[in-house]
Amino acid sequence: MLKRVTIFKKGNPMQFNNALKDIKTYEAGKPIELVVREFGIAPEHVVKLASNENPKGCSPKVAKAIANNAHKAFLYPDDSFYELKSALSSRFDVQDNNIIIGAGSDQVLEFIARAILQENDSVLMSKVTFAMYEIYAKQMGAKIIRTPSYQHKVDEFIEAYNKHQPKIIYLCTPNNPTGDATTKEDVLAIINAVSQETLVVVDGAYMEYAIAKDEAYRITPNDLIGFENVIYLGTFSKAYGLGGMRVGYGIANAPLIHELYKMRPPFNISTLSLVAGIEACKDEEFVEESIALHTQEIVRYEAFAKAHGFEYIESYTNFITYLFDDSMNSTHISDALLKEGVIIRNLASYGMNAVRITIGTPKQNDRFFEIFKKVAT
Ligand SMILES: *Cc1c(COP(=O)(O)O)cnc(C)c1O
Repeated sequence: MLKRVTIFKKGNPMQFNNALKDIKTYEAGKPIELVVREFGIAPEHVVKLASNENPKGCSPKVAKAIANNAHKAFLYPDDSFYELKSALSSRFDVQDNNIIIGAGSDQVLEFIARAILQENDSVLMSKVTFAMYEIYAKQMGAKIIRTPSYQHKVDEFIEAYNKHQPKIIYLCTPNNPTGDATTKEDVLAIINAVSQETLVVVDGAYMEYAIAKDEAYRITPNDLIGFENVIYLGTFSKAYGLGGMRVGYGIANAPLIHELYKMRPPFNISTLSLVAGIEACKDEEFVEESIALHTQEIVRYEAFAKAHGFEYIESYTNFITYLFDDSMNSTHISDALLKEGVIIRNLASYGMNAVRITIGTPKQNDRFFEIFKKVAT
């Protein structure tokens, strides 16, 4: 093994951007490889229910298209993303210049923070929500304001907005990691209460699941595009089963998209990711089947919670959040499951004695229930 020695030089220690002092590195769901390495469990016995991936995998048509185009790996992608934008513009009934493509919608979130925020600006979000909003905002030196509840309550958002005049408001519906959602009516009430100077981000990463469950939660880019200060975000990572390909998008009025484009590096998704996104748009049946499987399986998680006497948050996503009282400890339970090869998401770092479980295949879910009973009840 190469041994490194530290070389001491004169002068002050290297200085990083001040903004970094207050940033916690994003903690991603644990990969299967880690469980294989640390606990010696065979990869086929690991059940990963931690990152809200589609348990059905991706559309077989997408997998085939990626394989058929593998020889194009040497080519840069079509940087206009013409075909993908056309597919999205017809799906959502918007124009090409209303769309920006990102390496996951995560990258669009980064473009937004960089395009809007300056030091000491503030941003507003719910008490418990997607961790990347905070990280990207803090990178720009912005202050984080949170509402008192994890649910997106209209009154709380308006009160905090009036008090802090944030530059960005993040509305995550359905919300990750809690699974609850905000109605279209409430989202519009918040949008209508804020001035043009504040950008409202509506993150619909799990929107396909919410729509399948209850029409009152359906929000489409078209509902929002008339507002100059609103952007809708969507992704292929969840219902479309393409988390590994990193394709997401933002949809907004053309002048806003034009500004965000200034933050975009060229070729920001790969040639094969582009193929995957285009092909995924052609296979809506796969998404319908995925949601049907999900709908069938999530009721088992609800029944399991009831049978064992703990609470859960009604879910509009592809995961469910179990809430524990003091008799159960989310860290203890997550660690015990991990040793048995079942990966779930502990929400202790979000200040909750709770766990988030991605709904898996029937077999994966059986395994989860079996191991959970063994370690936790
Ligand atoms: C998964 C997720 C995203 C983005 O995921 P990408 O893989 O970067 O597209 C965005 N917002 C929320 C709330 C998510 O859960």
